[in-house]
Amino acid sequence: MSEASGRILIVDDEKVNRQILVSVLEQYETVVAATGEQALNRINQEPVPELVLLDVIMPGMDGISVCQQLKANPDTANIPVIFITVKDDAEEEERGFAAGAVDYICKPFSPAIVRARVSTHLRLKQQTDLLEHLYQTDPLTGIPNRRAFEMFLARHQEAGSEMALVLMDVDYFKSFNDNYGHAAGDLCLKKVATAMHRVAEDNSGLLARIGGEEFAFAIPEYDLSQARLIAEQLRLAVSGLEIEHHFSTTEPVVTVSAGLAVVTPEHYPNLLEQADKALYRAKEAGRNRVIS
Ligand code: GH3
Ligand code: MG
Ligand code: MG
Repeated sequence: MSEASGRILIVDDEKVNRQILVSVLEQYETVVAATGEQALNRINQEPVPELVLLDVIMPGMDGISVCQQLKANPDTANIPVIFITVKDDAEEEERGFAAGAVDYICKPFSPAIVRARVSTHLRLKQQTDLLEHLYQTDPLTGIPNRRAFEMFLARHQEAGSEMALVLMDVDYFKSFNDNYGHAAGDLCLKKVATAMHRVAEDNSGLLARIGGEEFAFAIPEYDLSQARLIAEQLRLAVSGLEIEHHFSTTEPVVTVSAGLAVVTPEHYPNLLEQADKALYRAKEAGRNRVIS
């Protein structure tokens, strides 16, 4: 069992309460806020807290309103909130749960209870985050998988963005596997993903492995000429790895072909098909090229 760790935001208008909680939770990374407004500001800064301890009664914006705002924002909705309240106020507890709290701790604090509740909810949050990450990550290459890709498209379709898609497929990969072995094939895919990732991280899109030797880079709000530049960079990043492939009739190294498409939100359902058609033409035209 690894030592417990976590980032906690403590929100209380009374300094003494903040001090007690910071010292009770000294094994964790804690930050404090003295008002609801400060709490909302702090929560949007990196690193984002994994748990919020939130006083219900504060002058100005109270804890219930802070919690409601956190829950209404998709970026913060999954951060668990534990309310800090005075003992035996059932009505207040009900209001807190209705606002989206996961639990309560009571003033005056019992250090053991505070630590137990915090530890439980931090563990749940961290496990959920890990599962979420695994759910959206390709285990071989460590980049986002097809699920993450589809979720990304769905989010942007809802937001009404145009979307450019670069669909890439490794050339003659079957003969690479047949001749160099499956393990070498796996290693090759990892290197290809890493090279593409380096290009992708300079741009605000999502790179994913969407099939065996198929990768996609989805770029919101890019027009065809901008996307073509990125696609060329991705293609060159792969050939630039100079991974030997003597069984390719295109080049003596591993290359990719790419198909490019740009669509408006109502045409998202055709995006992959359009890019795939362009990819097919890139293959037909001799591979190791980009076609839109
Ligand atoms: P083309 O240039 O037309 O794309 O030809 P290709 O040989 O690359 O295409 P094909 O679809 O015939 O072969 C794809 C190969 O990719 C077949 C499959 O064994 C291999 N492959 C798919 N996923 C993996 C993987 O995870 N690891 C390894 N090592 N190989 C994989
Ligand atoms: Mg292929
Ligand atoms: Mg293929």
